[in-house]
Amino acid sequence: MAIDQKFPYHSISVQQTLEKMQSGQEGLTEEEARSRQKQYGANELTDKEGISPFILFLNQFKDFLILVLVLAAAVAWYAGHMVDVYVILAVILFNAILGFLQGYRAEKAIQALKSMLKQEAKVLRDGNPRTVEARQLVPGDLILLEEGDSIPADSRLLRARNLQTIEASLTGESLPIEKHTDPLEEKTNLGDRVNMLWKGTHVARGSAHAMVTAIGADTELGKISHSLGSIKTTATNFRKKTERLAKQMALIAIATSLLVFILGYFLRGYAFEEVLLITVATLVASIPEGLPAVITIVLAIGASRMARQNAITREFSATEMLGSVSVILTDKTGTLTKSMLTVGKVYLGDGSELEVTGTGYTPQGELLQQGQPINPTKNDVLRKLLFIAKVCNNAHVGEPVQRKEGSSPEPEVTGDPTEVALLVLARKAEAGQQGVIPEAHVVDDLPFNSEQKFRATLAEVEGQRELLVVGAPEKILKLSSHILTSVGPQELTQELRQQIHGKNDEWADRAMRVLALAFRDGSSIGDSAKSEDVRELTWVGITGIIDPPRSGVQEAVADCKSAGIRVMMVTGDHKKTGAAIAKEVGILEPEAEETDYPLALQEDELESPEYVFEELVDNVSVFTRVSPNTKLRIAEHLQRKGHLIAMTGDGVNDAPALKRADVGIAMGIRGTDVAKDASQIVLSDDNFATIVRAVREGRIVFQNVRQTSFFLLTTNFAFVSVFIVTLLLDWPFPLTATQILWVNLVTDGVMELGLATERGHGDIMKRKPVPRDANILDKSVVPYILLMSIIMLGLTLAVFSHYLPMGEETARTAVFIVISMTQVFNTFNMRSLEHSIFRIGMFSNRYVNIAFVVSVALQLLVIYTPFLSGAFRFEKLPLPDLLVVFLLSSSVIWAAEAYKLFARKKRQAEFILV
Ligand code: ADP
Ligand code: MG
Repeated sequence: MAIDQKFPYHSISVQQTLEKMQSGQEGLTEEEARSRQKQYGANELTDKEGISPFILFLNQFKDFLILVLVLAAAVAWYAGHMVDVYVILAVILFNAILGFLQGYRAEKAIQALKSMLKQEAKVLRDGNPRTVEARQLVPGDLILLEEGDSIPADSRLLRARNLQTIEASLTGESLPIEKHTDPLEEKTNLGDRVNMLWKGTHVARGSAHAMVTAIGADTELGKISHSLGSIKTTATNFRKKTERLAKQMALIAIATSLLVFILGYFLRGYAFEEVLLITVATLVASIPEGLPAVITIVLAIGASRMARQNAITREFSATEMLGSVSVILTDKTGTLTKSMLTVGKVYLGDGSELEVTGTGYTPQGELLQQGQPINPTKNDVLRKLLFIAKVCNNAHVGEPVQRKEGSSPEPEVTGDPTEVALLVLARKAEAGQQGVIPEAHVVDDLPFNSEQKFRATLAEVEGQRELLVVGAPEKILKLSSHILTSVGPQELTQELRQQIHGKNDEWADRAMRVLALAFRDGSSIGDSAKSEDVRELTWVGITGIIDPPRSGVQEAVADCKSAGIRVMMVTGDHKKTGAAIAKEVGILEPEAEETDYPLALQEDELESPEYVFEELVDNVSVFTRVSPNTKLRIAEHLQRKGHLIAMTGDGVNDAPALKRADVGIAMGIRGTDVAKDASQIVLSDDNFATIVRAVREGRIVFQNVRQTSFFLLTTNFAFVSVFIVTLLLDWPFPLTATQILWVNLVTDGVMELGLATERGHGDIMKRKPVPRDANILDKSVVPYILLMSIIMLGLTLAVFSHYLPMGEETARTAVFIVISMTQVFNTFNMRSLEHSIFRIGMFSNRYVNIAFVVSVALQLLVIYTPFLSGAFRFEKLPLPDLLVVFLLSSSVIWAAEAYKLFARKKRQAEFILV
């Protein structure tokens, strides 16, 4: 019998839901899930964003420029130039094909990125927790949810612990909603069905088990929206910048074409149709019609290069923004450090200190006291600590499996790395001794929260309820009144507190992450624990977790320094741990001493009357015990000072700061769905070095956008000046309308695509970031405009006058080669605005090489194919002449080389002066 996805499941009980869904507390079997997948289809919203290639091709004809061309064809037809009509139609087709190819490539890149942003869900199948793609969920699947998860399908709650969800995306309600499992009246409003969870909303707190009741288009979200694209293309600052650029260039083009018309018609008295055709052709040639498409391509290429380096872009323009980043606010654990945390030391309430051996997640290792293995069964304080470590824990450590041939088996782990470390510690003790840790039943759980900096579990063991707590030592110490010793709980004296603080500082100085474990009697708490219940604890001990820096991070931090990017650490961890890691990775100099400002600060010190908050943010780079709200404040201050900031985050509470940052960066592995949704970049390896690689790509993106638009501007400008000057000189038109259109096609259209793929040239991370409001066009284009215009104009005049005695057609053929080849050679100049083309390698950009060959071939094709040369009215040029004109055109390169050399020398001289 089919499952009714529209049934009001909120009105029936949990038990009835299970029956109606033909499922159970163990979830579906794999087999059943597979068969339901066939029956109900995929849990996805129909995606109208993927444009079909055919539509994409048709879209190319909507362009304003195409209209202009059609108009030109009409004029040509009216004037009886049938050949021109065909040529113009061919140009329209060609333009459309080029536009299509560009659009297709960008679309492919978007699709590829989307597939990398697959949403996942945790389900119970055959009673075992498993991670599956969210699109594979079926009605009846039992899903497991925790804080920060995005809800993958509409579901009926089966079990809820302190569950709160945010449904703003569906109902607009921005406050968290408390959820429970009791049945409700059938006519309850959507927003009040507090025993249901909706696809597309988030878990803000707590955890839950729920049964999927509706998937895909049958969900509430599916009913109101048919597409929830995960890649946003909102109008950003950058987009506005590029649109402004395109408009400015279009205006220049229109104005100059108009000038051509006025000069031709009124001053020189050419026939109306002839001037109109030429005007339209110059307009088409000088409007940077390819610019928007090319910018999208540059961004798309940047985004896919970043993706290959583990930084997945959710918003195309973020790739360019990254290039202007001047401050990176990074967290510590897992980003600067390896995510594989291991407990290395234990310090118990009875004053004994233990070493723990073994690395990684394999439950093999020993607990040593003064070098001798210790028997946990004989030590009640240690047993208690291990018990808390295991039970107050939401991580999973599976059985060891061999991942790769020859590698040692490693268990599959899920959950918070800190909790994984504690669980592995417990496993190590259990491996040596069965039954060390008593079995417990978990009644309620308060997940870790970066505001409170602890987690708690209400557990029942041998009929006794206990509240188990793990968290930051200072916090837990404040909440503790007693301490567990070998003779039972005792009062926690001032002296003992001092001792604990001492040990904590000692370990933190050695870059260890320190966690405290404590408990209290839980008989008075009832069935649900609250954070207010965490008080009057009995202290058990601390664990020192080794969390070494990742390899490559030190180099990445150094790269940031030379790239003029400030790296700041913002962590929830202890001040000394933060400072120690900061020194290891180079955020702080290894021998750094405190000057007017401390090296590292703790959140509560930010408010001390001694300092001004703003000054501290400007002068201190390590902020510790920071809550998400302070992260936001730090970001806002830096932005007010004109910085463009990138910020990392992983938790639910980080979302506001991630949204506020110019570039929010979420952790792909460790991060919650909420954090990912609030970010523009998701790191699939959680690694700081990846951020820096992405910044590098971002800088290349900006550089490529700039170089490509410089290319268009310089060539178009030179081109139009040729027409205006020849008209002023009262010479014949140096090219016919169809020839102009062809030049435009074989140069702009082809060559700019090559420029879009340029890579950086070594020194891209040795410069200061581009200021956030820097325009794409700046004065550095001027020398290139002059150079291009003078050479193209000079050569045209020389060649035209030289060949004119042999007839206009021969002269135009020579001019055609000059105009197109100077533009083609200009591409090589624009591959770098500073470096010699010989230094970066004349042929080091494969796409430019291909474009070069294609472009030259297309030119030769129209000149030397009898049919085409007739249509275009070209005359064959003798080979030696062809070569000479070709070589003369290459002077564009030599002139630019001379200019670059001069500019370099000047920069060096200035540098020495300073
Ligand atoms: P960060 O990720 O920047 O290192 P967190 O905000 O995650 O900082 O952690 C702050 C402190 O809270 C840690 O130093 C640790 O003492 C404690 N803590 C972190 N994670 C957990 C957890 N899962 N359970 C209990 N305590 C934790
Ligand atoms: Mg953390």
